Amino acid sequence: MSLWWWLPALIVMLAISARYAWWKPALPDDLPRVLMYHMISPQGTSKKHRGLRVDPTMFERQIAWLASNGWEFVTLSTLTGGGFRGGKQVAITFDDGYEDNALNALPVLQKYGAKATLYLVVDRHNNDWSVKKKAHHNTGELAAEPKLSDTQVRQLIDSGVFELGGHTLTHCHLPSTPLEQKAEEISACRRVLEETFQTSVTSFAYPFGMFSAEDVDLVQQAGFSNAVTTDEGIDGAGGSMADPWRLRRIKVSGKDNFWAFKIRMRIGFRGYL
Ligand SMILES: [Zn+2]
Repeated sequence: MSLWWWLPALIVMLAISARYAWWKPALPDDLPRVLMYHMISPQGTSKKHRGLRVDPTMFERQIAWLASNGWEFVTLSTLTGGGFRGGKQVAITFDDGYEDNALNALPVLQKYGAKATLYLVVDRHNNDWSVKKKAHHNTGELAAEPKLSDTQVRQLIDSGVFELGGHTLTHCHLPSTPLEQKAEEISACRRVLEETFQTSVTSFAYPFGMFSAEDVDLVQQAGFSNAVTTDEGIDGAGGSMADPWRLRRIKVSGKDNFWAFKIRMRIGFRGYL
């Protein structure tokens, strides 16, 4: 037998260990985790946006696991308002405002006594924001995806589970939007959401996670008190301070298996491939 029989096995093991960084030591539980979701719905036939769509069965498994492992569910206003007081705190967030958040996520969150923050786009119906980042992204798929009606948004707030956050009026691409226009996108989204839903809106999410220092200023001037990004990770690792205007989140991907979710909770991301 060849002396090299073990080589293919080693390569496979290294590849798995790069894709799933199971070997990295877990970050302390008292660093809050902020989880980022978009849709909670079964995968369709389309290969696009698969990462954005977490299957409802998987979602319930994740929430049940968090509850049974002693994670306290908090909204962004509780998390940041309490000055990151530590403890096992997890903030569930949803971006954009898909209808399945009310149909599929709310019942699960209620069942496990969880809380969540919804970053709602004001002008969300028939709006395919994927084209604002790159024109060739336009398949019309996100435009066709049903969004929450105002009645459903009220239902989410009245349930006591959800708080609202801002995500601009139109899900604009901040880096390519003129200053005056983006100032309006940011400040008006807070004003409109507060007036429409008679609720306080204190947290902001940068669309596509893309922003500059100028945009941070605009978010502060609009009266928000914190903002989340799409930068993957867990704030406070290695003694660093969380920046309330650039909070990192843990991406929960629809392509993940359950093991990947647990690795993300431990270290803030899944791996290197
Ligand atoms: Zn978004």
